[in-house]
Amino acid sequence: MFEVVEETTSIILHLLDIITVNETIKLVSYNDSNEVIEFVSHSYNRERHFYIGVLKSVLKIRRTYVLSMNYIGYMNENMVGFYRSSYVQNNKTIYLGATQMEATHARRVFPCFDEPALKATFNIHIARQEGYRVISNMPSRNSLPIENQDGWFWEVFNSTLPMSTYLIAFVVSDFEFNASVETSGSVPFNIWARQEAISQTEYAAYLGPKILKFYEEYFGITFPLPKQDMAALPDFKSGAMENWGLITYRETALLYDSQHSKALDKQRIGSTIAHELAHMWFGDLVSPKWWSELWLNEGFATYMEHIGLHSVEPSFKMLEQIVISELHTSFSTDVLDSSHPINVEVNDPEEIDQIFDAISYSKGASIIRMMNYSLTEITFRKGLYNYLNELSYSSATQDDLWYYLTLEAHKDGTLDLRVTVKEIMESWTLQKGFPVVTVWSDSRYSSVHITQEKFTLISAERKEIKSNQTWWIPLTFTTQSNPDFTQAHVKKWMSVGEKRTTLTGMLEYKIPLQIGQYLSQERELVPWLTALTNFEYLRIMFERTSTYGYLKDYITSVATPLYNSLGFKDSLEDPHDIQLLRSYLLSSLCRLGFEDCYYFANLRKTVYCVGVAEGGLKEWNFAWKKYLKSNLGSEKDNLLYVQRSFSEGGNIRKQDVYKICGDFTYTITNSFNTEEDLQLLYKLKAERYESLGSATLSFDQAVESVELNVFWMKHYYQDVYQWLSINGYEGVSSSGDVKNEVEK
Ligand SMILES: [Zn+2]
Repeated sequence: MFEVVEETTSIILHLLDIITVNETIKLVSYNDSNEVIEFVSHSYNRERHFYIGVLKSVLKIRRTYVLSMNYIGYMNENMVGFYRSSYVQNNKTIYLGATQMEATHARRVFPCFDEPALKATFNIHIARQEGYRVISNMPSRNSLPIENQDGWFWEVFNSTLPMSTYLIAFVVSDFEFNASVETSGSVPFNIWARQEAISQTEYAAYLGPKILKFYEEYFGITFPLPKQDMAALPDFKSGAMENWGLITYRETALLYDSQHSKALDKQRIGSTIAHELAHMWFGDLVSPKWWSELWLNEGFATYMEHIGLHSVEPSFKMLEQIVISELHTSFSTDVLDSSHPINVEVNDPEEIDQIFDAISYSKGASIIRMMNYSLTEITFRKGLYNYLNELSYSSATQDDLWYYLTLEAHKDGTLDLRVTVKEIMESWTLQKGFPVVTVWSDSRYSSVHITQEKFTLISAERKEIKSNQTWWIPLTFTTQSNPDFTQAHVKKWMSVGEKRTTLTGMLEYKIPLQIGQYLSQERELVPWLTALTNFEYLRIMFERTSTYGYLKDYITSVATPLYNSLGFKDSLEDPHDIQLLRSYLLSSLCRLGFEDCYYFANLRKTVYCVGVAEGGLKEWNFAWKKYLKSNLGSEKDNLLYVQRSFSEGGNIRKQDVYKICGDFTYTITNSFNTEEDLQLLYKLKAERYESLGSATLSFDQAVESVELNVFWMKHYYQDVYQWLSINGYEGVSSSGDVKNEVEK
């Protein structure tokens, strides 16, 4: 049923891999007359995924019509639309059906207006066989036996609230559910999984309702649906999907086994649950007007996952980890010329798929965090409340968000009346890249100068064209006479157009290397994570050089005191951040060939890194060939590493193949840093570019990263090596072993 807003003589619906039964297509005016409107023709525009019905008469404005049809759709095994999945229990293969509609796959399941702004209410009826259960966005209202079809039932669901097609979901399975007991004052909350895994749903059942309740209080808006389900699916394309009222997950993103899961697994599960539940407001209640606004979904959900998880698990230190997991992560993509603005024009399904990336998620989350702190907590939350409340069951653009935040900020006096949030934030969402802020003091006049310029890895002096980009940057400071490090309110906005006033070079490598030596005294998670990430880049650059030993000596010597205090053996008794730090430290040390790694074979994943694991090449070759259809780089050590890492269980599931292929270009080209490597990539690009599809952007980014690696080797490698050798580090140690007192 739809209402006409503009006179028309045709009806256009999205569909894909669906055949309409044209003689059943019927259009009736929804009023007393029940007038039937005749069709002239039915056709498809396959390229644009359209069904087009041309009518004999004009549809009248403000009139309501009912369109009905039979159609034939297909259940596929590609993990999009309505797809088939399976698992093995007691040597028996058991099948199930599940859906994945985002971004443009609802059109594979039913003909519809498949765009996020076009919201509707949905009445879903699904036929199922006895022994199966069906769950969907809304609770089931009725199970009715189907006439003349023994053992079959219609599952009839309550009407949905107004929602976008990409959030529709249903799962037909023999799953069991774990009903969360923490439902006081909240809605029923069930976790679904196959029977053998149901015991691993305890953590999700504990966490989910608590976080949902926290969000209700944080946003000031009650969760509007009568129930919340979360299901762990054996085959799933991404990590999880925020279908309204029925969140679907890959098993590893929801199921927690206290015996075998590690601290990092627990944190990932918690983060994913908190992320998806935040979408119930950001994305589901208020949806993006078009996919170019995707960051309003993903940036907010990513930011809120830290706040939501922190509310239940403060010991995870998520509000500290966000600096590494989102801010630093976004830098490495955003530094590339092939990056894109947060808000970017997208026109077709392939372009839409490409922006589910670090820019929409991590950079989006980072600039929201900046808004939160610079506008102050109270102003930010009031602005968000108005935005969500005013636009509920509707859709939004970033301009809507700026509008509500500006209104509150001006009212509260947290932003100068001459400036709007739109002006400030567009410098962050409409241009790619980010600034580096340089502060230098002038001792003669006891003043401080602050400059900004676009950060590039190829330093400005060496780059032909200098960037004129500038940003609005919140600045805060404290003074010697009145030192106060507790508040971070904005004292001055550095505005667009305010640029650097003095030419300064970037830091020489010796400075971070010198500062790095203090790490032997450091025991906290966040500084260590920052250091280990950056050491990893140095390690990769040095790995294939004759001076690798010098770098090993440096890293192991600053890390030894920490290693000695943490030890090798994981203990579930340790605080969360200690467990996490230990696993990151060991990964780093093992990649350097640290000898203890050979003794503790139980840390399987870490041990892969030293090549102890025996790996069959068959499974990996499958993914490798599938992706490139050529054998480039088969000699490379990296490839062996990846092959081994993924060869664990014999067969790889299709969901993991997709994951491998997705991260693939980056993983393999990560350590390419010679002219020869670069030429190989250029050749591949020339030969295969057309066939890359939605991987085009990540391929371009990989090529650019290799160009930067080559640049790095040419300009910085010698500096680092010289500093290491002058400062007494030795290149002779071949195994990177550490003299330690830890028991093995
Ligand atoms: Zn998300």
